[in-house]
Amino acid sequence: MSNAKELREKLMMKDRKGAATYSPEILKEADDFAAGYKTFLDHSRTEREAVAYIKKLAEENGFVPFEQDKQYNPGDRVYIINREKAIGLAVIGKNGTSDGVRLAIAHIDSPRIDLKPNPLYQDGGLALLKSHYYGGIKKYQWTTIPLALHGRVVKLDGTTVDIRLGENDDEECFIITDLLPHLDKEMATKTMSKAFTGEDLNILIGSYPLDDSDEKDLIALNVMKLLNDRYGITEDDFLSAELNFCPAYKTRDIGFDRSMIGGYGHDDKCCAYPSAIAAFDTKLPECTCITYLTDKEETGSDGNTGMQSDFLRYFIYDLAKADGNEGYRVLSKSKCLSADVNAAFDPTYASAYEAKNCSYVNEGVVISKYTGHGGKYDTSDASAEFMGEIRAMLKKNDVKWQVGELGKVDVGGGGTIAKYVANMNVDVVDLGVAVLNMHAPMEVISKPDLYMAYKAFYGLFN
Ligand code: MN
Ligand code: MN
Repeated sequence: MSNAKELREKLMMKDRKGAATYSPEILKEADDFAAGYKTFLDHSRTEREAVAYIKKLAEENGFVPFEQDKQYNPGDRVYIINREKAIGLAVIGKNGTSDGVRLAIAHIDSPRIDLKPNPLYQDGGLALLKSHYYGGIKKYQWTTIPLALHGRVVKLDGTTVDIRLGENDDEECFIITDLLPHLDKEMATKTMSKAFTGEDLNILIGSYPLDDSDEKDLIALNVMKLLNDRYGITEDDFLSAELNFCPAYKTRDIGFDRSMIGGYGHDDKCCAYPSAIAAFDTKLPECTCITYLTDKEETGSDGNTGMQSDFLRYFIYDLAKADGNEGYRVLSKSKCLSADVNAAFDPTYASAYEAKNCSYVNEGVVISKYTGHGGKYDTSDASAEFMGEIRAMLKKNDVKWQVGELGKVDVGGGGTIAKYVANMNVDVVDLGVAVLNMHAPMEVISKPDLYMAYKAFYGLFN
């Protein structure tokens, strides 16, 4: 071997080789893992649905509802639910909370189209609903695709109706219309943000009138009658409802080699699922392990179901109290993987990325030392010490990983929940899966990357 070659081997980073570094066995395990994930994704369009699905899996895996002021023993498995929109899974460790807890936190809300409180109207012989988009979307991507309706209506008498309509092929679905190319000469000259505004995201829901009378808005009335017949709701009930329109796409394999997965809501359910499975597979850890799946990340983590609420902190305080520990001391010794996705390099839009420091499909789980924007504003920047610890943990557990910044410096940026975790005096770093066309109605990830995320969370817990 030449001197340069020898030194290069010894001193320099290895070239990227993508999935070529995986054995056939690992690729098979990744494919098997992806099968469970795809089913989860198809049943978890909204945070409520994700909580219900994970709760069911948790119960099948021996988790029981957490009870305050109860003594727990090593190996005990509990779950706690916040307003049906966030869920915590804990496996009590041999040392309980004495050396802090190990946390994996992902979010289960995804960008979508919410209804306004007073949405129903009729215009031009059509019935439509006014919407207010949720999270960061490129609005044009959400037009002319099949949409399904998900959500809950609370009626005046306090009873609730859960709606899930448009996912099955034999059910009706909904759509946001767009202008035909022949008529959009003016629109084509506008910038993308002006060509399609938030107030243009109106959802088409009907066109038949109730009857041939002279009453006004008979098409909207007919829709309301259909809703009343099916769900027993009136127009007033929209005022106390959370109704969300999501892409009605089934999760599918992508590519001739079926190496990737296309689906709605990978951000951040492709981290939520593996972190939950890692908790299920953890039997008797040293420290108590917690997977927490939170809501409202896409809108800034505000609100009582978001990561800025004290819900998780109180849960950890309760676990600490049961061990006779002070909650704040437990937090101070705790370590967390903030499990969120990163933007995978896309050769079609190469100029948005800095090739040496962005993440790539099939290069393993992505660690983002910091996110934020500009001069590292609005982020938690993980310390060299904690990065070192996590590097060693990933190496020990044979987890393939890469680093990832979110685009070029000053080009873009974004945030995760890591900074809110760091504010609790917890060591934290972002770790997750690389995603192509993030926040689009159909996002893409690779199967081995998803599996490496699972192995990373399992490694942290064990
Ligand atoms: Mn995310
Ligand atoms: Mn996001």
